[in-house]
Amino acid sequence: MQQLSSSRLLSEVCTFGIGGPAQYFVEVRDIPQMQKVLQECSTAGIRYFILGKGSNCLFDSRGFQGAVLQNKIDFCSETSPGVFHVGAGYSFSLLGTQTAKQGWSGLEFASGIPATVGGAVFMNAGAQGMQTWEALTFVDYVDADGVLKRFSKEELSYSYRFSSFQRMQGAIVGVCFTLTPSQGARERQIQLLKARIDTQPYQEKSAGCVFKNPTCAAAALLIDRCGLKGYRIGGAKVSEIHANFLINSGGATSQDVLDLRTYVKDVVLQKMDVTLESEIYWISADGR
Ligand SMILES: Cc1cc2nc3c(=O)[nH]c(=O)nc-3n(C[C@H](O)[C@H](O)[C@H](O)COP(=O)(O)OP(=O)(O)OC[C@H]3O[C@@H](n4cnc5c(N)ncnc54)[C@H](O)[C@@H]3O)c2cc1C
Repeated sequence: MQQLSSSRLLSEVCTFGIGGPAQYFVEVRDIPQMQKVLQECSTAGIRYFILGKGSNCLFDSRGFQGAVLQNKIDFCSETSPGVFHVGAGYSFSLLGTQTAKQGWSGLEFASGIPATVGGAVFMNAGAQGMQTWEALTFVDYVDADGVLKRFSKEELSYSYRFSSFQRMQGAIVGVCFTLTPSQGARERQIQLLKARIDTQPYQEKSAGCVFKNPTCAAAALLIDRCGLKGYRIGGAKVSEIHANFLINSGGATSQDVLDLRTYVKDVVLQKMDVTLESEIYWISADGR
């Protein structure tokens, strides 16, 4: 167990501020380390979870039996004009701001999304009609046996908040984006960031939108129409600012959030006849 030594409270490494202790917790700083640690988990039969910035995760208040591997691989290099090869642990928000400042378009929407690049690719994060996949060229990936592979964009599939990686076992370790020159990139990035700050509970503990938007309407609108803004169970509450955000208003347990998510889903189904699908990941203590 050379790589897997320390433990960590998961509430400290996710934006919800919820989660008990992980049995093993490893900060992975480079690709060879990711290869080693995944090999070790595979050989020892240890369950593992790849963590970015924990901005789309609900961890179990009881903790996590197994290894949480936090991706901190954070190199960033412009290999040719507009082509950025970035570590999967690099800040997605920072990348969006930096590239827009330099006059490159394609990731303006990333500014303000509290994600890693790897998490954004895994989730195909997006905003205002733009998605991560559009700017992608290739992805470096370490599979569950520790083997490093490179996938071109054409080898992968993606759709709204979906990527092929959601059906694979392993870790995204590097991503290449190809951006296009645009004089308006910086202005667009600032406008998008302002809209985000104006319409989202940015200072609260949350995991962003809890439900995917169904095709008929925005999930936030449906939840709001059901009169659920401000509704609470224990320490979990439907945000008064953006109805698709559930927030930890203080001392929320994972069960509070799960119960509130179920309640909101049930009410929307009853009143609006729409079945909402969860966008956030629930990571139970024992995998059940
Ligand atoms: C205030 C706020 C605003 C948000 N706004 C948006 C928005 O505008 N648009 C949007 O799409 N989302 C938004 N989100 C949600 C969230 O930021 C995204 O889903 C983001 O892509 C998650 O990235 P992460 O690095 O935090 O991943 P995590 O939450 O750590 O992980 C999410 C999933 O990705 C997997 N994963 C993470 N990194 C890797 C990797 N390197 N390799 C393999 N799997 C990996 C994890 O195992 C997990 O299943 C918001 C969240 C918050 C809190």
